[in-house]
Amino acid sequence: MIIAAAHGSTPAPSLNAVGRGERAPDPAAFYDALRAAPAPAAAADPFTAHVLACILAVGLHEAALDGSSLGRAVGLDRDQLAQLLRDWLPAGLAQIDLAAEPSTAAFDDEEEQLLQLLQSHQADQSAPARWLTAMVVRRSMSDNHLWQDLGLIERAELTRLMDERFPHLAGRNVSNMKWKKFFYRSLCEMEGFTLCTAPSCRECADFDNCFGEETGESALARIRRDAPRAG
Ligand code: SF4
Repeated sequence: MIIAAAHGSTPAPSLNAVGRGERAPDPAAFYDALRAAPAPAAAADPFTAHVLACILAVGLHEAALDGSSLGRAVGLDRDQLAQLLRDWLPAGLAQIDLAAEPSTAAFDDEEEQLLQLLQSHQADQSAPARWLTAMVVRRSMSDNHLWQDLGLIERAELTRLMDERFPHLAGRNVSNMKWKKFFYRSLCEMEGFTLCTAPSCRECADFDNCFGEETGESALARIRRDAPRAG
């Protein structure tokens, strides 16, 4: 397991050796382990390295919890994960069993719609841009605020990510809508406003659900806090 390796224990089994129902490792420790080795790309762009590590950390935690895979949790295939780790988080290369990761990343119809929206608004077509698009899409299907589902420390980090990676799209969120709701509204707009229950947000009964604060605790901090104390 990645955590055991990070703390210098004897040979670590792969992530996939963590069985369903076994205690999931602390995602904050996953984060620390992933960032344990330097990488030129991370030195040049520490914010992107931080975001990638946050997303992989919550993905590793989820995969350990449900016995699935990191790739499934974050929407990346084996080759994408290998390149990401090699270029940005090389400490993870020796600790994640890439052979157990999916050879292709499959997205359902809802995800495909969001994928198209974000891909059409990427600031560039670099590999990190494409990974982050896929990761945001997959994590958008989870239940919490998007910044929490991405494992970020606070909502402001998601706003910065959107501004940097999807500037034109982010610039349209002038009312500071909740980000998942903003995606939904954008898809609704593309569909001719057939998804939302009202033609205008001001007239909509769901207004309070779509706007307002996205407060809460970071997934990395919450899971660490809620974990049973040893001893
Ligand atoms: S407030 Fe209503 S109309 Fe606006 S995005 Fe939400 S559901 Fe759609």
